[in-house]
Amino acid sequence: SPSILWFRRDLRLGDHPALLAAAAEGPVLPLFVIDPALWGPSGDVRRAFLLRTLRALDASLREHGPGLVVRSGRPESVVPALVAEVGAQAVHVSADFGPYGAARDARVADALDSVPLVPTGSPYAVAPGRVLTGDGGPYKVFTPFHKAWANHGWRAPAESDPAAVDWLGAPSEELPDEPDVSGVDLPEAGEAAARARWEAWRGTPYDDVRDRPDLDATSRLSPDLRWGTLHPRTILAGLDARRHHDAVFRKELAWREFYAHVLHAWPDSAREYFKPELQGLPYVTGRERDRRLAAWTEGRTGFPIVDAGMRQLLAEGWMHNRVRMIVASFLVKDLHVEWTHGARHFMRHLVDGDLASNQHNWQWVAGCGTDAAPYFRIFNPTTQGRKFDPDGAYVRRWIPELTDPTLGEYPDPIVDHAEQRAATLEAYQLLRRHG
Ligand code: FAD
Repeated sequence: SPSILWFRRDLRLGDHPALLAAAAEGPVLPLFVIDPALWGPSGDVRRAFLLRTLRALDASLREHGPGLVVRSGRPESVVPALVAEVGAQAVHVSADFGPYGAARDARVADALDSVPLVPTGSPYAVAPGRVLTGDGGPYKVFTPFHKAWANHGWRAPAESDPAAVDWLGAPSEELPDEPDVSGVDLPEAGEAAARARWEAWRGTPYDDVRDRPDLDATSRLSPDLRWGTLHPRTILAGLDARRHHDAVFRKELAWREFYAHVLHAWPDSAREYFKPELQGLPYVTGRERDRRLAAWTEGRTGFPIVDAGMRQLLAEGWMHNRVRMIVASFLVKDLHVEWTHGARHFMRHLVDGDLASNQHNWQWVAGCGTDAAPYFRIFNPTTQGRKFDPDGAYVRRWIPELTDPTLGEYPDPIVDHAEQRAATLEAYQLLRRHG
């Protein structure tokens, strides 16, 4: 009997456990739902990248059948309507562990009534909630989680084969037109490109260069992991943890798994301080906050490494990890703008924007997250720039007016770092003393 495979964060056909499960039951109808609740808050670059990924998925499906069925609207209406239309016996999905996805899936399961919503596999090597402490609770600290996660282990990649599936079609909406992102340098989207990126990058020495934005020496697999054009197990199966660089890279993947696990255990931590005692810090509000946020988002704070990063975000939908830490620290500890505003801007523009990784990295920088950097460790944007972009190549790439003033005037620093650092430390001391 036919079933529906509803794609969400798993926009691929290889190593796809839910596809295997659906195909075992009979013909499969591939569906993507454009959900206004997720589509609305996305920026143009993020939308464009998702659309390209969907087009690539559709093209792969067309090699074997009628192609992707696209419907837009609230999933709890759209999915049951399609089930009735084609007489599907089940809806197969990769489980979604985020707070929105989990609530949405519960609504859809309700609306489907007697037709089951069947989760198989997840976007993670180990599904959130599986790795537990000795007491059976969730981990709050990365290092022991990492150890337990590695000991837990994961399955081998699933051998899903799109050529062996009996694909069904149904009337489909056209995908929306791509927003104009000319001038934005996006990576090639889709499963084949993701696999090629991984194959090309695999084995690259990494540990000693990964903190250098000028060298741009990280894998850039984050959008692939975000949209599921590549499953982490596909990567893990190709790593040998006895080799130093592979072990370092595997640990980075474990951070992604850790934050998904934390968000699953504490769904409110997407919005609320993981360490509520830091909620009382004084932050700027109103017009002054808007003015500071505008300078930060547009990359004109007068701190080159900060501005370079913020401009890279707008130009590529991506930013180097070291620079993400620097710009986040600067917003919170130098401009005194609450982390939630920065996190929202990142989610809007990052092609790898992922609620768990984004919110928890922001909380980490702001000092209120799991394993948080202690609040008093405040990045100095100038010395960070000197250390990690020693020749200034990264900064010059994004701020051409630094070397060629005819291109525009580069602003003076928006604040004095030493003064702001002192103010932040003072506020923190006050909070500790008086609560
Ligand atoms: P690599 O260094 O090649 O790492 C490989 C993979 O490991 C990454 O693709 C990613 O999946 C994972 N990873 C690495 N570092 C981290 C980390 N600190 N936390 C979680 N996963 C990690 N990453 C996102 O995927 N989405 C986000 O929305 C996001 N927001 C962030 C916000 C802030 C303020 C900070 C400081 C970091 C954020 N990160 C986020 C983590 C990290 O910056 C990116 O994963 C990384 O820069 C992606 O580039 P890459 O694939 O080349 O990384």
